[in-house]
Amino acid sequence: MSSGDASSEFLKNTERSTGSAALRKNIQAALALAGTVRSTLGPRGLDKMLVDEEGRSLVTNDGVTVLQTADIKHPAAKLIISASSLQDSVARDGTTTTVLICAELLENAWELIRQGIHPTIIAEGYWQSLQASLDALQEISRPIDMSDNVELLQATKTSLAGKGFVAIQSRLAELAVEAANLVTVEDSNGVSRSDPTLVKVLANRGGSSLESNIISGLVLAKSCIHPKMKDFLEGGKILLLDGELEMRSPTIDATLKITDVGMLNAFKVQEKELLKAQVDAISQLNPAILVVKEGVRDEARQWLADAGITTYRRVEKTDLELLSRATGARIINRPESASESDLGGFSSSHEELWGSVTHWILEGEGQRGATLVTRGATEEILEEVERCFADAIGVACQLLEQPLLLPGGGATQVAIGRRLRRLAESIPGREQLAMEAYADALEVIPRVLAENSGLDPIDELLRVVSAQTKSGDWIGMDSDRQVIVNMDEAAIREPILITQQALKGATESAINILRIDDVLWAKEGPSIPGGMPGAL
Ligand code: ADP
Ligand code: MG
Repeated sequence: MSSGDASSEFLKNTERSTGSAALRKNIQAALALAGTVRSTLGPRGLDKMLVDEEGRSLVTNDGVTVLQTADIKHPAAKLIISASSLQDSVARDGTTTTVLICAELLENAWELIRQGIHPTIIAEGYWQSLQASLDALQEISRPIDMSDNVELLQATKTSLAGKGFVAIQSRLAELAVEAANLVTVEDSNGVSRSDPTLVKVLANRGGSSLESNIISGLVLAKSCIHPKMKDFLEGGKILLLDGELEMRSPTIDATLKITDVGMLNAFKVQEKELLKAQVDAISQLNPAILVVKEGVRDEARQWLADAGITTYRRVEKTDLELLSRATGARIINRPESASESDLGGFSSSHEELWGSVTHWILEGEGQRGATLVTRGATEEILEEVERCFADAIGVACQLLEQPLLLPGGGATQVAIGRRLRRLAESIPGREQLAMEAYADALEVIPRVLAENSGLDPIDELLRVVSAQTKSGDWIGMDSDRQVIVNMDEAAIREPILITQQALKGATESAINILRIDDVLWAKEGPSIPGGMPGAL
């Protein structure tokens, strides 16, 4: 069969949608998607129960979990899901917000298209609106009070609201702030850099999850391999070997005939010399600590002890990588070709006995690293603690890097909307309508927050808008107390990065979808989650 035949065969199984028909389908998919997560938004959001093919269930209030678990094949829906996954990895929060705003942007675009405005004009107007909104965020935000950890803790806690068990949210926020401080350093320009991935998680079954704690440094359930080696060091150099220090017994196969005993011995002597040469190469560099991913042969262990090199072996690759980043050591594969520049630095190393297991605790030089020791009665609890912590540390680290806060409870979206409507008046042409549509779309957040607390979305939105006109950008909705107040008073504040990223992700996906005017549908493929909404 020629390749031409193959592609026509492929096309037989697809339908081609062009122009506005394709766009309409894409927008329907986006709305359906938003419909599935709408009810989870905010502290009063409902939980969703997800059931997989094997009948296992998971109860969650987290938009991105809902979307990642659902089996959605629609191309436009997939694009939005990938925007929310990006949101999750960059900002650790704001995923539902991203999906809701994107769908609303598309729905409003559809209205304009029906009035005869071309998608390209709308895309252009949305792009201008995004830039204006990002500027507005800087104006609305205020610096976080760094004199103590109070605001840092509150903002971290706000982002945990509705995730995981309430009982340990405060504790997790505390742990996250503590760890974030440990993995934040100032670079040479005096700019704070936080690396949440330098926090290792060590699950320790048993006890209550409230007893989870943070240790400064990386903790490995290991002890050094020779009683003569020092298990307490106050700083020095470290070498990381992704390999082994073993004598490989010669592989005997058909091409190699062992004719007498002497020959095998000769091999062994040669192997031992090779091993000695490797250990000598390491000793030359004089590291205080050597970490070997695989095994270390008895002879080598003795030589290393004699050379005064504290050695750890059989270390997971992920731990080796963490050690590398915390100490600046380069991971080497062959000791013979290692050089001074491969060495990293540590500021302390010691061992502690926890229960019956020895743990090695190493603090890097510069970036020290940190370890969360999770406690919990069951595997599920340990995993849940780890998952919530990952979100919390992400948020805490962002705040240390970019210490600006925005009001939550819909205040920020209303405040941007007010600015955009003013700005729209000064824009000639049809982009003006797109900017107004953009402002309307952002207000989906306060509307849905009100809806999810059982209030009338339009009434509440109007109340926030008019309260802001009188008292400023920080007035929003406190869903817990069902009042409209200054978000500073209610301590509902969020790191600026979450909203920045959510606006970028939502707008970019909406624009991409507006620009797709030709879609190939695999007949068996695209399914629209939750069925077609009747609205369009
Ligand atoms: P996302 O996945 O977008 O983070 P969430 O379910 O976490 O969705 O809801 C986040 C929204 O809830 C934000 O707009 C935040 O400002 C708002 N929010 C959080 N706590 C409160 C509160 N107590 N009152 C009103 N809004 C709140
Ligand atoms: Mg959230």
